[in-house]
Amino acid sequence: MRLLVILALLWSSVGCVSADELRRFVYERAEMGVPFRITLYAAGEELARAAAEAAFERVEVLNSILSDYENDTELNRLARSSGKGKAVPVSTDLWRVLEASQALAVKTEGAFDVTVAPLVNLWRRTRRQQELPSAELLAEMRRRVGYHQMRLDPATRSIELLTAEMRLDLGAIAKGYAVDEALVVLKARGCPAALVAASGDIAAGDPPPGQAGWRVQIAAMDAPNAPPPVTITLANSAVATSGDTFQFVQIGGVRYSHILDPRTGVGLTERIMVSVVAPYGMLADGLDTAVSVLGAERGLALVESTPGAAARIVQVREGKVEVVESTRWKSE
Ligand code: AMP
Ligand code: MG
Repeated sequence: MRLLVILALLWSSVGCVSADELRRFVYERAEMGVPFRITLYAAGEELARAAAEAAFERVEVLNSILSDYENDTELNRLARSSGKGKAVPVSTDLWRVLEASQALAVKTEGAFDVTVAPLVNLWRRTRRQQELPSAELLAEMRRRVGYHQMRLDPATRSIELLTAEMRLDLGAIAKGYAVDEALVVLKARGCPAALVAASGDIAAGDPPPGQAGWRVQIAAMDAPNAPPPVTITLANSAVATSGDTFQFVQIGGVRYSHILDPRTGVGLTERIMVSVVAPYGMLADGLDTAVSVLGAERGLALVESTPGAAARIVQVREGKVEVVESTRWKSE
């Protein structure tokens, strides 16, 4: 009986903090090459700081698994097994991201494809040297790319890369997974009312106290006559935005995006900015890139057929800016 009373008291002091006792805290740190910002509501600073710290640590661990930039990540170790005729068992985190990536690759018939890394590396070189690659080099890189050359075995959670010199790039989806996982940590630490933002990838937990959701502004496209920013309200869902505002290369008057069409091997030349709302960040992030490659028509069909997903596309066509929204899209 006494134990019950103590438990009840503990519950009232820890679990049932009234909404007006909660304060807003913001923490920011560079992770995965971008500023990661955590906004959360907590009863006190100590709890808030510890929760944010644990979330950042989780993201750091994910980076050591999923990054293609650092040499010794699990992703790059897997890539080095390519063409050696063996399937490599992978961690739960890498499995989840590769499984989602492969599902999207199948659904988009390779418009979204994380085996695109050799072409992305070529694009990075193009950007440094300001010179388009030769046809031979492009053909050589394309030979190493293709989701059909990546085999996933769900029974053993292992991956086989069938062709030598394959590389993987999770830049289109890993940040979405990381913001989801940061939220999971914050929730486990008693801070379910939180928002995690990593440049264009944002995941929202429970709304701020007394509000319907987190208000998130989506920046305007940096094109002449682009429509103004829009605001969406998020709760227990995510938004991801993809575009070539900062990352592009201009050669011979043509602007090439850092998002590549794996079928041609070069960056998209149509200006397009895609925002996707989805139940979780990994899905939103994967879809924003997939829709960018597919274009408005096929991209919207993909979004409409994905439960809980909505999209807004801003694109430049024949010099004019057009906006297209899916049926479930809601913004102010
Ligand atoms: P995001 O900003 O989410 O659209 O991701 C862009 C990043 O995804 C690029 O910087 C590349 O690392 C990678 N990427 C480029 N093209 C593709 C593609 N077609 N499929 C999958 N990943 C891609
Ligand atoms: Mg993406």
